[in-house]
Amino acid sequence: MATNTQSIPYVDIGSQFEPMREELMAAIEEVMASGWFILGPQVNEFEEKFAALSGTKYAIGVANGTDALILPMKGLGIGEGDEVIVPPNSYLASASSVALAGATPVFADVANNYNIDPEEVKKKITSRTKAIMAVHLTGRPADMDALKAIADEHGLHLIEDSAQAVGAKYNGKPVGGFGTFAGFSLHPLKNLNAAGDAGVITTNDDNLYEYMLKARTHGHKNRNEVSFWSLNSRLDTLQAAILNVKLKYLDEWTALRRRNAAIYQARLADKVWVPTDAEKEFAVYHTFIIQTDRRDALQQHLTDHGVGSAIHYPVPIHLQEAAQYLGYKPGDMPMTEKQCETILSLPIFHNLTEEQVHRVCDVVEAFFQ
Ligand SMILES: *Cc1c(COP(=O)(O)O)cnc(C)c1O
Repeated sequence: MATNTQSIPYVDIGSQFEPMREELMAAIEEVMASGWFILGPQVNEFEEKFAALSGTKYAIGVANGTDALILPMKGLGIGEGDEVIVPPNSYLASASSVALAGATPVFADVANNYNIDPEEVKKKITSRTKAIMAVHLTGRPADMDALKAIADEHGLHLIEDSAQAVGAKYNGKPVGGFGTFAGFSLHPLKNLNAAGDAGVITTNDDNLYEYMLKARTHGHKNRNEVSFWSLNSRLDTLQAAILNVKLKYLDEWTALRRRNAAIYQARLADKVWVPTDAEKEFAVYHTFIIQTDRRDALQQHLTDHGVGSAIHYPVPIHLQEAAQYLGYKPGDMPMTEKQCETILSLPIFHNLTEEQVHRVCDVVEAFFQ
């Protein structure tokens, strides 16, 4: 392998533009010339394609992935006095969305694979529990069979925070259709990404769909009347047009992420803990998070050799200042807290070359020699 001293960033969003320049610019110009910036036809087109991809009856575009969790929870009547069980190892919006809907987030620890542990969920159910939020963290589907069984047994909603998992499958079925609804983020760092904030909800529920059509646009039932107060949270036509172009490449990008993951798995499994696809799972590797007791030294070594890395997430949600009122303390979520000390995300984005991934492996191997 030729020595290459160029640095490898953790992620490079700008490099995704050039191969799609013509298609993207044509799509953007079309919207600009139409002047139909709010809920134009491209939004509908995107929603139809996204519902087909998710195997659900409906997809509804909204302004971001956080609103894609808050608004449908409100639509289900989840609010004051209610509890929603969430994992403490996630992006904070998994929990903040529950609080912003008016309910109380209740944390249940994760398993070693980063996803919420069904056995821990069982321990947290009370008479106030209304829903279980499964986060498909890192793009790896959560244990949907076990979580669905628990939800059904207790008459709870199962909610999928699918922000990191577009294209992931469980038992051969796409995420997004396992629960009452799923919220996806299309933020620039996500696997399918807009040129700014964007989000989408998937559901098979007719009532929730009708609610969402109003909820994303102030609660309007028609031009001059509102049924209830709500946010202004629409998916921009411009973002939908961009997403329609990018959707065509999603399978290809997922295959490239999985190829990158396979290289890491083959080369690093004897040095660090590496994530793999377990039975029933088709992971899309939004992140590739390894675990090692020598995490800080390894990260420094990577930096010294021009390789970017990140920590997802250094402060667990239950120990955030914003969560203080919930009364959790260090030691309450042992697996999540252990992971905070040992996790490291390696570059995995789709436009890394095979050679770059091998070079990251070379640098990691050199550290352990
Ligand atoms: C990104 C993300 C969100 C929030 O999405 P935004 O589009 O940034 O609002 C929620 N949950 C998880 C797990 C995420 O990764």
